[in-house]
Amino acid sequence: MYIWLNVDPESVLNEVSLCFRILEFIGASPGFCVNWWRIPISRNVAPNVFPTRSEVNGGWTRSGTNEVFIYRFEEWDRVLIHECIHALSWDVSPTLSLKKCLEHSLGGGKLMDALFEAARA
Ligand SMILES: [Zn+2]
Repeated sequence: MYIWLNVDPESVLNEVSLCFRILEFIGASPGFCVNWWRIPISRNVAPNVFPTRSEVNGGWTRSGTNEVFIYRFEEWDRVLIHECIHALSWDVSPTLSLKKCLEHSLGGGKLMDALFEAARA
């Protein structure tokens, strides 16, 4: 794990502990690398403005790798889990019947593709 920071050590130790608990729970293999930059930028979006990648994303990875990059401090633990799903190639391909089932369970209407962000096209 590589961490770039300027914060109190106790907070960092607590965050590192949570990070390792998440990786253990997920089953990440030894050597799995988390690049964690803890940049204090928020996801705030002005009213009536559609969010872009800069407001939505907090990290990235490549499928099938043992490495994730988390740059945003806000929701870093959620982003870590999300990026691990990609890194460990757990992405799924939703079938047409699954999409129809979800649309039906939500009361009709068309699902947005964004709901399947972790799904392969
Ligand atoms: Zn993603």
